[in-house]
Amino acid sequence: MREATLVTASLTVNGVALEPGRDVAIRGYPRDGNIDIDQPLVFVGYGIHRPDLGYDDLEGVQLHGAIAVIFTGAPRTLNGKPVDDALHAVLADTAPRYRALRDRGATAVLGIYDPVRAERMPFAKIIKKMPTTGLAWMVDGAPASDPVLPSAAIDAATFDRLAGAQVAHALWEQLDRGEHPRFDQPLKASLRITSTLRDITARNVVAMLPGGDLHDEIVAYSAHHDHLGIGAPVNGDHIYNGALDNAIGVAAMLEIARGLKALSHPPRRSVLFIAVTGEEKGLLGSEYFVEHPTLPIERIVANINIDGVHPSYQVFDVEALGAEHSSLQREALAAARAAGLNLSPDRDPAQVHFIRSDQYSFVKRGIPAVHTAAGVMDEHGGLATNRALQDAWESERYHQPSDEWQPGYHAEWTLPEMKFELMMGLAVADADTRPTWNARDVFGDVAKPAARGDSRQPVSPPVDASAKPR
Ligand SMILES: [Zn+2]
Repeated sequence: MREATLVTASLTVNGVALEPGRDVAIRGYPRDGNIDIDQPLVFVGYGIHRPDLGYDDLEGVQLHGAIAVIFTGAPRTLNGKPVDDALHAVLADTAPRYRALRDRGATAVLGIYDPVRAERMPFAKIIKKMPTTGLAWMVDGAPASDPVLPSAAIDAATFDRLAGAQVAHALWEQLDRGEHPRFDQPLKASLRITSTLRDITARNVVAMLPGGDLHDEIVAYSAHHDHLGIGAPVNGDHIYNGALDNAIGVAAMLEIARGLKALSHPPRRSVLFIAVTGEEKGLLGSEYFVEHPTLPIERIVANINIDGVHPSYQVFDVEALGAEHSSLQREALAAARAAGLNLSPDRDPAQVHFIRSDQYSFVKRGIPAVHTAAGVMDEHGGLATNRALQDAWESERYHQPSDEWQPGYHAEWTLPEMKFELMMGLAVADADTRPTWNARDVFGDVAKPAARGDSRQPVSPPVDASAKPR
């Protein structure tokens, strides 16, 4: 991988210098240690190019010799129809947008932070926590992962300061209605990003359990083995252990491997166990794996991703995040039953956790996937007590040095959840047919060229974005 440590950063728009770390967020750029651009800013809405959905911010747009200005969110309506949380999350992915902008000649991106997210998480808070170091995986000695353009991010208030009062909000309101507003005021920017580049090695660790009569097909478990490492001290502790995020998930995967290997007959399909690196840096290890698989990618029939299991309370239900988008829902139900657990729906669908861990790298290659998680049900069927425990963990320990093993944790409380994960993989491995996406599913379509931001995709007729999976 190539790591880009930020040395200097500056953004000046029409002579107004913005302060990095306060007005503007800029991180090191692994593809080029010395970015120095003086160019006009061209506003292109969300920068979303999805003609297959009947939505295109880039139609007829020329960006050669320009810095593209985009809002970082995504529209809530398409062609007058509401966009559901899943499609919204897919559209809000910046990576394919940057590729589409690069294909039209843009040299950099200035992102305006999504005003909807700003209501829940102010930009001032985001910018404080935002890492300034960039990281990319490499192919043949050159960075090859996203993002493909250098970028800077500001909030709507700063854009208003540069462009005139309330301009950002008016543009955003039009966008949110699914329109494609233009902004013709001439703005010229100077963007400088100087980074120190350093090559580092990080590894995915992969093992395979050969299967029986269907051994050419493979069920892939994944769990990320990286965490945040050494960082800013909190209460004198600067070691970010990542006990639950995700040492415990790797331990669970190893136990599942041990369990599947101990069966008297191997599963019909082969089972792959992938401990991936770089999840915390943007799913880098899993993305590298699916782009450079150790065996033909089409042989992988499903991904089961484990990012945390829960030792802080007795588990009575599990969630199979994303399974409802494919036939994996069937195996999830059977596995939950076999483990003596209830299968609960995603308790936080608006967060779209399905795109936030390594399973999404597999989804991007067309592989049906599931992200397993403990539910919050207690022995009486109530949800409040364990939900409070989970929320407390999120606010007090998530991505903090205090994510370490606690006296109140019990390893044996993770057993039903691990049993569910084992049975899930076994059910998929032993099924007569390989899993399939639901017809016209938003995630099933992610692997198609249009959603990947490829430039010369065939234009298919618009689909009904509000259609529910069958
Ligand atoms: Zn994490």
